[in-house]
Amino acid sequence: MARERNRASSSSLSSASSSSSAASSVDSGTTSRPGDERSPVELLGLPGVRGQSAVTRALTDALHAGRLHHAYLFDGPEGTGKATCARALFAALNCQDPPAVGAACGRCESCYKLSHGAHPDLIPFDMSLSGLADEVERLIRRLQAPPFEGRVQMVILDPADLFAMPTAATAANRLLKTLEEPRPNTHIVLVTQSASSLLPTLRSRCQRLRFVPLADDILRHLLTLPPESGVAVDAVDYGPPIAGSDAELDAAIALSQGSLGAAKRALADRERLQQCAAAAESLLAAARSGRATQMVEAASSAGADREQAQEILEHLWLRLQHELRAAVQQRQPPTAHSGLIAALRATRSAGLAIRGYTAAPLAIERMLRHVGDALSAPTLASASPQRGRPSHARE
Ligand SMILES: [Zn+2]
Repeated sequence: MARERNRASSSSLSSASSSSSAASSVDSGTTSRPGDERSPVELLGLPGVRGQSAVTRALTDALHAGRLHHAYLFDGPEGTGKATCARALFAALNCQDPPAVGAACGRCESCYKLSHGAHPDLIPFDMSLSGLADEVERLIRRLQAPPFEGRVQMVILDPADLFAMPTAATAANRLLKTLEEPRPNTHIVLVTQSASSLLPTLRSRCQRLRFVPLADDILRHLLTLPPESGVAVDAVDYGPPIAGSDAELDAAIALSQGSLGAAKRALADRERLQQCAAAAESLLAAARSGRATQMVEAASSAGADREQAQEILEHLWLRLQHELRAAVQQRQPPTAHSGLIAALRATRSAGLAIRGYTAAPLAIERMLRHVGDALSAPTLASASPQRGRPSHARE
């Protein structure tokens, strides 16, 4: 239900912006932006944002004290809820019947318009437009007018990282004065994955709030939620939750590095997920075989695609992690773990080497020798009959 309504949001946003001429130049470019589908959730305001308690607490405290900053820098990894948090804040600020400070009712006219992507006072700014400096100029003119109908207006610049490009310097400089002193009831949120790359003049005019990678249990919870459950995580709709097996869910969570978007992408591409898991198994088998030819073969196959090689190594790491957990749970002597720990370390080093532009097959082959040596150490061999079967290998 919520999903269907949100599907219509792109078109309703264009009609909303064309009906308000001042906003049209700023808004119209954003409506066709790929992947800019509205979140399928009702915005509940800040209480609906999960996994970012430090951020939501800071914002709620500021609201209580009446000291909300006019410019924020939402900084953190992709898929951790930055844009959603901005929208949740907007919802709370404009809700006509807020149940609490920082919360939104999800039902009033303002909330309704927001959930349809049709609130004229929420101004998404498309950073990918050509002629960025001129677009910023238009935005500044737009922001000189008071909110159309809400208590506050908010512009979300996402991804603000693009201001760090040399060609965007003029645009960034034009924004400075407005960023420092916007008209009353105007809030500006810069969404970035790497605030440190932005001009210091931009950074210093904003209050920076750091978003952390989502914890595994929160990711697991969010990945298995029905879509209508009303929890705001990210403004990007990554599609419905995908019921994966426990092992697939584990793998997707481990691969995601705390990003809901990345976890959902991993689950959406099951075939790749299974391919990577199978390739990780082959690597482990080759390492355990101790045979050089098998290692070279497995390494060249797993290292053929640099990007996929990283994913395969993540799967291998996860696979070894499972063995380690099982060994710990079975209270095997600590010496039994040293081989696994060394193997985990070798896996991480190989990932770093590939990131550092060592040829992937070479890095993997070197890793296999280390992993093979580590796992064939005598302490571990005596422990191996009791080793629990990792859930990863389950069907
Ligand atoms: Zn409301």
